[in-house]
Amino acid sequence: MIRFMNVHKWFKDLHVLNDVSLNVAAGEVVVVCGPSGSGKSTLIRTVNQLESINSGEIWVDGKNVVDPKTDLNALRAEVGFVFQHFNLYPHLSVLDNITLSPLMVKKMERAAAEKLALQLLERVGLAHKKDAFPAQLSGGQQQRVAIARGLAMQPQVMLFDEPTSALDPEMIGEVLRVMKDLAESGMTMMVVTHEMGFAREVADRVVFVDHGQIIEEAQPEEFFMNPQHDRAKQFLRQLL
Ligand code: ADP
Ligand code: MG
Repeated sequence: MIRFMNVHKWFKDLHVLNDVSLNVAAGEVVVVCGPSGSGKSTLIRTVNQLESINSGEIWVDGKNVVDPKTDLNALRAEVGFVFQHFNLYPHLSVLDNITLSPLMVKKMERAAAEKLALQLLERVGLAHKKDAFPAQLSGGQQQRVAIARGLAMQPQVMLFDEPTSALDPEMIGEVLRVMKDLAESGMTMMVVTHEMGFAREVADRVVFVDHGQIIEEAQPEEFFMNPQHDRAKQFLRQLL
């Protein structure tokens, strides 16, 4: 579903992605972890071209996303992205946040878009908040709305960039539960997170990034019990 082939990216002279190759199969959940500044956000942002790359190839569902002829709106409809800071539209109600892209980008009928939005709100446990505005919701609720908004485009892939790291601890679980449900429904997911409980329970694979390189790639149990590289060992020690 997602294929990175020898991807390189520089920010000026900072080599932020250094020869990254990675395949994510349909229905697979890959957790990306690594130290702050290692390139995790940049890596997943390249998948829907929120960041360009300097060389290499990235394919999503059979489409070469770095080809200048690729339609970025169509790509972003296929690849949902959930940000650390939710990024809901503050002036729109919960329902309108979710229906906006289906209406504007997919040209869906309003009745159908609203029906879909309500189903998704049901799924994330927030149907009763459809008329609320983002500022009236807790962080955990806002993030669940952001997930529903991503799903409203009926994407093939969902990307998450530290979706719980801006949340108070008591709200982390409700967001991880929604993500776990989504994983169990068969969604292809790349998740940047330091929630190692989630990684252990939900991920098919853990990828450890350091200085823009994937230096370790393993099944969760193997990664946690028997990390191979010193930098991975050190990283895991710091999380304890
Ligand atoms: P992570 O998500 O692992 O913390 P990032 O992908 O955000 O890492 O960043 C990797 C490196 O690239 C960091 O050194 C960061 O400062 C730098 N960086 C990120 N975005 C930009 C940018 N737009 N311009 C210049 N440098 C950037
Ligand atoms: Mg980041």
